[in-house]
Amino acid sequence: MKKLFILLVILLVTCIATASILDTINQIPAWLRTAIGGTILVYGVCWAFSWFSDPIVIAFETNNPGHWGPFIFVDTHILDGASPDFRDYFFTHEYGHYLQYRLMGPLTGIVYWVSCQISKAKSGNIWEGNWMELQVIEWAHRNSFVPKRIWGWPKWKR
Ligand SMILES: [Zn+2]
Repeated sequence: MKKLFILLVILLVTCIATASILDTINQIPAWLRTAIGGTILVYGVCWAFSWFSDPIVIAFETNNPGHWGPFIFVDTHILDGASPDFRDYFFTHEYGHYLQYRLMGPLTGIVYWVSCQISKAKSGNIWEGNWMELQVIEWAHRNSFVPKRIWGWPKWKR
């Protein structure tokens, strides 16, 4: 009898909570719902893309080369001036981040941020104790990723 009572209370609380969540969602203005839905759609499409394809590599002059979602951004100076070893390592390292993204999707940024905070507390900087970086560094030394095509860099021929 006591178990049934507890079950009924849980059911009642769940119903009230769901009803107020639905009311709250229903009160969100249409433009904001569209913006939120559009953002979820973009994130979802980007994440799904990572399961079907290699990353899209884009070259331009930047001080912040790296990975975001389905993209790898490469500085043209890495393509022009860096040694082939460094270039290959760069692409493989960033591809490692792409694989992390394939697993964690939109949570990647949050997990990376947490990893940075833990690293800061442990070592005073965001790199040395950052498991997401350490994992990719270790992985990139044993693997190789060469992009088939680089957008914005017609000289790239493989
Ligand atoms: Zn990295």
